Amino acid sequence: MKIMPNRLDRGFYQYQEEFEQKALEVLRSGWYVLGNEVKQFEEEFAAYVGSKYCVGLASGLDALWLAFRILGVGEGDEVLVQSNTYIASVMGITINGATPVFVEPDAYYGIDADALEAKITDKTKAILVVHLYGQACEMDKICSVAKKHGLYLVEDCAQSHGGCYGGQMTGTFGDIGCFSFYPSKNLGGFGDGGAITTNDPEIAQKMKIYRNYGSEKRYYNMVVGTNSRLDELQAGLLRVRLSHMKELTQEKIDIAARYDKELVNPAFELPKRRANANHVFHQYVIRSSRRDELIRYLDEKGIGTIIHYPIPPHLAEAYAYLGFAKGDYPVAERFADEVLSIPMYNGMTEEEQTYVIDALNAF
Ligand SMILES: *Cc1c(COP(=O)(O)O)cnc(C)c1O
Repeated sequence: MKIMPNRLDRGFYQYQEEFEQKALEVLRSGWYVLGNEVKQFEEEFAAYVGSKYCVGLASGLDALWLAFRILGVGEGDEVLVQSNTYIASVMGITINGATPVFVEPDAYYGIDADALEAKITDKTKAILVVHLYGQACEMDKICSVAKKHGLYLVEDCAQSHGGCYGGQMTGTFGDIGCFSFYPSKNLGGFGDGGAITTNDPEIAQKMKIYRNYGSEKRYYNMVVGTNSRLDELQAGLLRVRLSHMKELTQEKIDIAARYDKELVNPAFELPKRRANANHVFHQYVIRSSRRDELIRYLDEKGIGTIIHYPIPPHLAEAYAYLGFAKGDYPVAERFADEVLSIPMYNGMTEEEQTYVIDALNAF
């Protein structure tokens, strides 16, 4: 059997007719950018998340850097962010000229809430939390630190659509929630897409201006903005997928529950569940000190895996200018050496799950 880490085609065929019908509807409408589909999607996604506003954008990275731009976080400012994240989180900070201050992750791959305060200086302006792999960070503690020190709180929800903490959706805890709809995400489109959520009408309004060359009224440009518009086709297709989010999320939770129950092998560790959070499993990440051997073994059995992520941002070539060296963030570095995402996707058959479980148990 051949099993890939992800199967985006399965996600399409689950609702093929609805997707095809919507695509034709948009193509035939003659309106392709910032129209009714985007408007409807923004309303429906805000309602789903439980925030007052949603603004559609072209990508998750745009959501992140525009969030800090609008909050006025830039040159000379510091932003606390976890050391084990995807590099886009960090780029959202540095594109604005601000400095990332890395905080090590806890055992659940979220920012270590107990390590935050020690990193705060006079320059700290914001905390960026990343609900990595689909599990919320420890939001009660993080929110109280942000409040106590008067810091902005931004959430990177690119992997946590539908993920909650204490029953409250990720994307509603901070000033701005940043989402990606890249095809592999829990709510994925058929191309690039992103959005922010917020309860602040002023932030929502500013974001609409920034995404459209800094203009509210055509050809009257108030600020130097960008072109970051979710297109009608993606918005329409995302509306179809969003209408099935409940069952799509449950499907992944069920696969993870089976992995949790049936995977038994001291050669690797299963993901830990944070009390108070519902993990929505953008990725099912195991950890092993024999990770590279395990990858080769699974590959021979036809099972594909991915490392999320092999190089922590502080060691990326792009951030050599920050002057970090190996050993500076040992927890993130150990995770980078040990984590492995095993196959997990909507439309994964029971037979495929069994094959993965049997192979892993026999390692
Ligand atoms: C995917 C992702 C992003 C970036 O989203 P794009 O839409 O690809 O720009 C940012 N942060 C995290 C944690 C991600 O997984």
